[in-house]
Amino acid sequence: MAVRSTYRIQHQEIVVSEIAKSPNEERRRLEQAIAQSKLEIEALRAKVHGQADAGKAAILAAHLELLEDPELVETAVSAIDKGKSAASAWQQTYTSQAQQLSRLQNELLAARANDLRDMGGRVLRILTGATLEAKTYPDNTILIAEDLTPSDTATMDRSKVLGFCTVGGGATSHVSILARSMDIPAIAGTEPRVLDLPDGTPVILDGSKGTLRLNPSPEEMEKVRRLQARLKQKRQIDLAAANDPAITTDGYRLEIVANIGSKADAEKSVDLGGEGVGLLRSEFIFMERDSAPSEAEQTEIYSSIAKVLGPDRSLIIRTLDVGGDKPLPYLPIPHEENPFLGERGVRIGFDRPEILRTQLRAILQASQSGKVSVMFPMIARLEEFRMAKAMLEEERQKLGIAPIPVGIMVEIPAAAVMAHQFAAEADFFSIGTNDLTQYTLAMDRGHPKLAPYVDGLNPAVLSLIGMAAKAANDHGKWCGICGGIGSDPQAVPLLMGLGIKELSVSVPTIPSIKAQVRELSFAECQKLAEKALTLNTAAEVRALCPLPEE
Ligand code: PEP
Ligand code: MG
Repeated sequence: MAVRSTYRIQHQEIVVSEIAKSPNEERRRLEQAIAQSKLEIEALRAKVHGQADAGKAAILAAHLELLEDPELVETAVSAIDKGKSAASAWQQTYTSQAQQLSRLQNELLAARANDLRDMGGRVLRILTGATLEAKTYPDNTILIAEDLTPSDTATMDRSKVLGFCTVGGGATSHVSILARSMDIPAIAGTEPRVLDLPDGTPVILDGSKGTLRLNPSPEEMEKVRRLQARLKQKRQIDLAAANDPAITTDGYRLEIVANIGSKADAEKSVDLGGEGVGLLRSEFIFMERDSAPSEAEQTEIYSSIAKVLGPDRSLIIRTLDVGGDKPLPYLPIPHEENPFLGERGVRIGFDRPEILRTQLRAILQASQSGKVSVMFPMIARLEEFRMAKAMLEEERQKLGIAPIPVGIMVEIPAAAVMAHQFAAEADFFSIGTNDLTQYTLAMDRGHPKLAPYVDGLNPAVLSLIGMAAKAANDHGKWCGICGGIGSDPQAVPLLMGLGIKELSVSVPTIPSIKAQVRELSFAECQKLAEKALTLNTAAEVRALCPLPEE
């Protein structure tokens, strides 16, 4: 939360000359500018790498990839050959491609359009010799912008800018990823009229509630300032106890592990007291590249993460979960009317078994370096789980490696309804509440209008969670949560009360979730969960579970 005044970001105007020298000369200038841009981005990437900032590093990798897009360069070169200057040809090419992408009304493509503008602007600046204007902001600024590019945020003075609010983007946009990785309050996808706010308008920005309160009274400002001071103090206390286990007042231990996408995340999770990794989203290792990582590369990555965690913390590697809202450029999936109901997750592994088998071999080999388990996403039918297990077993026998625990994501209602049958054959369950909620309520998890209703605390979803947890416990197996509600403090007591043994949470929330568990009584959580299952709406459940004291 931040209480400050607003300031609109102005994008730099670059004057482009139309006067061209010979096409050869203009082509050479374009090549040089692209090469220089690559060097700049590599330098930024090295800096970000040093800060263990996986989100930003991935965005910069996307920029490098865009710079290597032959189509982009070829289009610019053909404009040069028709007599344009390098700067004019380049500007026309990248802006028109970005415009086409943003017209498609797809959040992922809109993020790509924003990246294209940012990367294109960098090359253009080099071509025209324009210097990057260092933007200066007054103290206590909240930036309001149509959209922000990674370069805007990279050059942002964090001592002045306390939060940002953009009209473009949504929960999964690059702006949101950056905000999370910078640990800065931000809201994306706000109403365009915020752009009309005069500079200096006092506001309260609440990133967790997604609200921007205009012209608050001095009393409200003071109240928020006091709350901020308390939260800061609490964070220090939580951090100091981060390595202690999360045991309730009556002795129930909840494992608090992390959701990660990279080795850097694993390192951060250990620093913050994470007790292992409940979900490695392996698709992050496949994204931002132009071909699939080889078996040796995957083995190296998984092993290095296992080593970061050491011999006592477990690492659950989820096999490739692409399709739906997560496309892979080098693994084209034919057009589907309903991609979320189409070839997603493990279904792709059956269609292209060599991809899954290669990954399974890498996971098995990495199990030599730590406490590794494998987990299959998007399991709907028991036959699918048996097929996936059979593939794993064949590869294991060929490699002569000892068996490893095998679990499933419970994220399709069918798997929760048939949890007893699955629990007889799986070593563990991890409930993917993001998808379980979307499929239970038949509401697209990324739909901007439906977003307020896609709530994992809906009693229908809670019942399915309870069924999965009970079935696992009855079979002597364990059931965890790796979906977003695991990191929601309002959900934590309920999930524990429903019999969940492990919460896999977003890395920065580890210390606060552990601290919250230590304040709770397991017996009370069980009563609360029982009551929640009798309620009628998600709002009633939320009213039953107030947020921990702030
Ligand atoms: C989920 O569906 O809750 C989950 C953890 O997987 P993802 O968000 O990667 O689909
Ligand atoms: Mg999922």
